[in-house]
Amino acid sequence: MKIVIFGPPGSGKGTYASRLVNKLGVPHISTGDLVREEIRNKTPLGKQIEKYSSSGTLVPDAVITDILKKRLTAELSKGFILEGYPRTVGQAKELEKITKVDVVVNLNVPDSVIVDRLSSRLQCKTCGAIYNSKTMPPKVAGKCDKDGGELFRRVDDQPEVIQERLKVYQQASEPVIDFYRSKHLLKDIRNEDPSVDPEKVVDQIAKAIKQ
Ligand code: ADP
Repeated sequence: MKIVIFGPPGSGKGTYASRLVNKLGVPHISTGDLVREEIRNKTPLGKQIEKYSSSGTLVPDAVITDILKKRLTAELSKGFILEGYPRTVGQAKELEKITKVDVVVNLNVPDSVIVDRLSSRLQCKTCGAIYNSKTMPPKVAGKCDKDGGELFRRVDDQPEVIQERLKVYQQASEPVIDFYRSKHLLKDIRNEDPSVDPEKVVDQIAKAIKQ
């Protein structure tokens, strides 16, 4: 299956996508993680794109599409859960040239929940697992449950950067919803209550995908 998980920053895309991997048996590809990997490894590309990621703006379509292609082509025969791409209608058209997708899951989350969630989000430095100090805390404070890695707060999870990311989402990314709706590929998932167990949302998504 070729699945896209779409939604605003902080809608839980990464959390749900990584949990769907076991249920569906297909790899998870996150362009946000690919971007952070380039930056962490201080590659020439990483140095070029760091300014976008830290300010909450979008990496140019051509650059992010190249980053994605390097990873996605290896997975085309297995299927994938793609998260963080496409984020513009231009990217959605690029993706069509690379492969067809079977379903696009659209996560609907109110802005107030997003701001609250991102302000308390933590991520593992080693494996990228996501936690939340309020709603999904690790067993031991500051340490990843899976590998004991150090948990950190992303630079783009500062309040001003969160506002910028929401603005960018509304202007550049929301039109992607209509693009896929008109192709009858969109499945809407309402995710308004932050206290709902992530596993329940994952079950809801898995059910919607199989329908
Ligand atoms: P979010 O939590 O905001 O959804 P991600 O982890 O998916 O963030 O992405 C982090 C940053 O990486 C984005 O703010 C952006 O700068 C860059 N990025 C990731 N995916 C894309 C994309 N498809 N197009 C442009 N920029 C991207």
